[in-house]
Amino acid sequence: MSPSPAPAPAPAPRGDRGGQPSPARGPRRARGGRVSGGAGRPGRVSRQIRRTLRRPTGPSKSEGAPKNTPDYYPEKPAQNVVRVVPLGGVEEVGRNMFSVETNGDIFVFDVGFQFTSEDTSPGVDYMLPNTKYLEKNQDRVRAVFITHGHLDHIGGVPFLMHRFGNPPIYTMQLSATMIAKRQEEYPDMPKPNLVVVEGGQTHTIGSTRVHFFPVTHSIPDSMGIKVETPYGNVIVTGDLKVEHVDNIPVPEEEQKWSAIGREKNLLFIADSTSAELEGFSVPEQKVRDTLENIIKTVKGRLIIGTFASQFDRMVNIIRLAEKYGKKIVMEGRSIKTNLEIAQKLGILTLDKGTLISAQEIGDYPPDKIVILATGAQGEEFAALMRIATKQHKNITFTERDTVVLSSSVIPGNEISVQKLKDNLLHNHVTLLHYRSADVHSGGHARAAELVWINQKVNAKFFMPAYGYYSMTASHAKAVEQAGRPRESIILSENGSVIDILDGEKLEIHKQKVPSAPLVVDGFSIGDMQEVVIRDRQMLAKDGMFVIIATVNLKTGKLRKSPDIISRGFVYLRESQDMLNQARLLIKKTVEDSTKGMNPVDLDYVKNALSDTMAGYLFARTNKAPMVIPVLIGV
Ligand SMILES: [Zn+2]
Repeated sequence: MSPSPAPAPAPAPRGDRGGQPSPARGPRRARGGRVSGGAGRPGRVSRQIRRTLRRPTGPSKSEGAPKNTPDYYPEKPAQNVVRVVPLGGVEEVGRNMFSVETNGDIFVFDVGFQFTSEDTSPGVDYMLPNTKYLEKNQDRVRAVFITHGHLDHIGGVPFLMHRFGNPPIYTMQLSATMIAKRQEEYPDMPKPNLVVVEGGQTHTIGSTRVHFFPVTHSIPDSMGIKVETPYGNVIVTGDLKVEHVDNIPVPEEEQKWSAIGREKNLLFIADSTSAELEGFSVPEQKVRDTLENIIKTVKGRLIIGTFASQFDRMVNIIRLAEKYGKKIVMEGRSIKTNLEIAQKLGILTLDKGTLISAQEIGDYPPDKIVILATGAQGEEFAALMRIATKQHKNITFTERDTVVLSSSVIPGNEISVQKLKDNLLHNHVTLLHYRSADVHSGGHARAAELVWINQKVNAKFFMPAYGYYSMTASHAKAVEQAGRPRESIILSENGSVIDILDGEKLEIHKQKVPSAPLVVDGFSIGDMQEVVIRDRQMLAKDGMFVIIATVNLKTGKLRKSPDIISRGFVYLRESQDMLNQARLLIKKTVEDSTKGMNPVDLDYVKNALSDTMAGYLFARTNKAPMVIPVLIGV
């Protein structure tokens, strides 16, 4: 952007500092410079406009504690304390992680991540739980338990484990394989130390006994964990639902949860993702029946858009396809990867010849073809969208095709799913929404199931986890209405420090440990750089306006008419009048503010210039582009 080497003070774009003048460089009225119009500190107007424009969205909650407050780290808990610290996942879906401490041993549950929204954090790839508390107490962290292989539970592993000493990860086979497979994409990160466990096993880790038990979820090898403390067990479910027939849990569920309930349980921490939905979840059998019916009866090709992480569903579709003598085509890398894992672990055995490549589709009658494709959420580069927009090498849709979107819309993806549907229908396909089987409510217990489990476990205290506040609060309300005393329910926030004293008394610390999310932004991982995010938001909303001017350092006059470059602001060619006035105003502002100045202070002039121009542009357009003056002194 700099046109040529500038002899003057380096033209630091103000935006890089979020519009804050550096404290060392205040206004310099005392030096005889004249402040035009007496408008106060240069930069004030533009800051004000930006503040006003920012207001509707407000500062994101994730921005964390105000600056200059030292981070809070509580003392090591006394012997009579069981401590729980949620680090992520109790105020959102995703970036699940919390720690439980007893006997001087800290155990960490899940290391997830969260996909981010373009509105709140443009350009950021993922948000991760904040691990500072664990870093500080690294010497007491004995193990990580991963409940299952979904990304909101394993996604943070490559980025975070080394930050707190890379402790061993206890998890079941499929999750371990998925973690190891994913780690291959991050060869520079230390290898995780995986310990494969099975449901029903008990391990002594540090000085604490830990028991693992299987739970029902939408991916095989999902487990819950029971940590024994001197005051009773801490039970963590991970994501789960209850297998049931007509709202009556099947005998295996009944036995499993009753057995847990016969012990002395201190604290129960459970999945809230679908707590806002009443009743019981749609039983998987019903989902299977619907699917079977579609696969059996469809005329022409069947294309099923799904998630690779809907493991059970994927395996089920393949089995049904085989049953009806159909061929399977896999489209999308993540589906292929997960299918390989499923085969390797014996979760799925395929008849020879079931899988065919996309090039072979033409060799079979259309009603013998089932295409499993990624992209049911409208992801731009996933297989489904590429086929729908005719960018796929081997597959094009015809009006004889039937497309099934086998997941509900994840909040935030509504617009991209809408685009996908429109694109699909432009191909005249038959489109089926397969509502009964959405990925989230499909895998997660609804209110009545949650109440059932809660009563079975019958712990002294209960903490709803895994979900936005509306979900954890609904979970809390459901169990309270079913008779659990309100005082026994812990509605926590990320970073809360929750102590249970002598197995009786609840004490929540006034201060929270650091919980602002870490972000993965391109190649860098670190704290959310608010200033960077704010600049990105501003650029996205109102664009930028760059002024390049050459100033004679002796006279303070402009050498020639200033250059103006703008992006994303207004179409300059159609705004010649405004542009001409802007040039005049730039000239006047520079010359006014340098009057009597000797030597000319370009930083001061720059501030005055951004201020005046921001005010002018706002008055003319009701937009507040980022104004970047580049002054070259000669
Ligand atoms: Zn899950």
